[in-house]
Amino acid sequence: MAVATPETTEPRVVLVTGGNRGIGKCIADAFRAQGDRVIITYRTGAAPEGVDAVQCDVSSTDSVDAAFKEIEKTWGPVEVLVANAGITKDTLLMRMSEDDFTSVLDTNLVGAFRVAKRATKGFLKLKRGRIIFISSVVGFTGAPGQANYASSKAGLTGMARAITRELGARNVTANVVAPGYITTDMTAELPGDVTATYKASIPAGRFGDAEEVANAVQWLASPGAGYVNGTVIRVDGGLAMGL
Ligand code: NDP
Repeated sequence: MAVATPETTEPRVVLVTGGNRGIGKCIADAFRAQGDRVIITYRTGAAPEGVDAVQCDVSSTDSVDAAFKEIEKTWGPVEVLVANAGITKDTLLMRMSEDDFTSVLDTNLVGAFRVAKRATKGFLKLKRGRIIFISSVVGFTGAPGQANYASSKAGLTGMARAITRELGARNVTANVVAPGYITTDMTAELPGDVTATYKASIPAGRFGDAEEVANAVQWLASPGAGYVNGTVIRVDGGLAMGL
């Protein structure tokens, strides 16, 4: 059933960056299943068949602007933004080049800023909007080899809270979902012994499913979560509890 907004009976336009695979695809599928009009971005390759998609590289302001223009022209203004696109370039601090650091920040944190800023234009006209940043528990716990990634993900919390203070009174919410270890291409790259060690440290004793992340995102975008702003929901089987 489509999620009704107070002002209209039209389906909401939901944009999921990096929605062509992994967690983003699962989030997009979940919104589509409840009747929202979902547009995903893809960066490389071709658009997945049968879904509404625009090409977008979040590390380019021009590419983000072009994608939003296409969406607004074809489907209308974005009402729910899920900033999900992300990369890793893991290596120990002493070996991490400045490019390893800045390129991860440029996609994960500045990329999220680019899409959030652009989406806000439409939110102010619509007089409502929801932003959900996909972070990671590593933004709280840190992890060896991830000085770049952890910094980028920690930054999303500060950004969501700044946006909350700026736009909370304009019916805009900005929240963060911080997944723990989720079964996707990203975690499939981990060696078997590393996977076993990680599982042993998770109270739930397993990696999560992308659907479990999608559930939290959908709730934050739902009418019932209208008073939830500037918060972080961890979906991590208890891994980072207390942080
Ligand atoms: P994947 O590697 O499976 O997918 C990443 C997605 O981001 C792809 O769609 C990719 O597009 C897109 N992307 C990467 N760089 C850019 C860019 N510059 N512009 C536009 N799109 C880009 O990752 P996951 O599904 O595992 O992760 C999704 C999000 O969840 C990420 O932000 C990640 O940090 C976070 N996360 C993941 C966890 C996990 O265990 N998997 C745990 C915690 C957080 P393309 O296909 O073109 O490469």
